[in-house]
Amino acid sequence: MNDIEKQKTANVLSRVLGVAHCPMCNGHEFTLIGKVDVKLRHSDAHVPTVAIVCPTCGYMSLHACVTLGLPTGHEDNGDD
Ligand SMILES: [Zn+2]
Repeated sequence: MNDIEKQKTANVLSRVLGVAHCPMCNGHEFTLIGKVDVKLRHSDAHVPTVAIVCPTCGYMSLHACVTLGLPTGHEDNGDD
């Protein structure tokens, strides 16, 4: 992800999630890691996601790009 993609993704997550709240440590900050393709077991299918991590406890969550209206990274075989 380039800086523009990261900012757009952060804006979408902020709009959808509101104030960040870590379910493990009650932290109020997350760091955007980038795109992660989650491969489904016993299938060729995969789910493009964006990953965020809590900088305090390391709790990580994945959010489906399609649901958020974000590029999946497969539209143009782009380098993400
Ligand atoms: Zn945490």
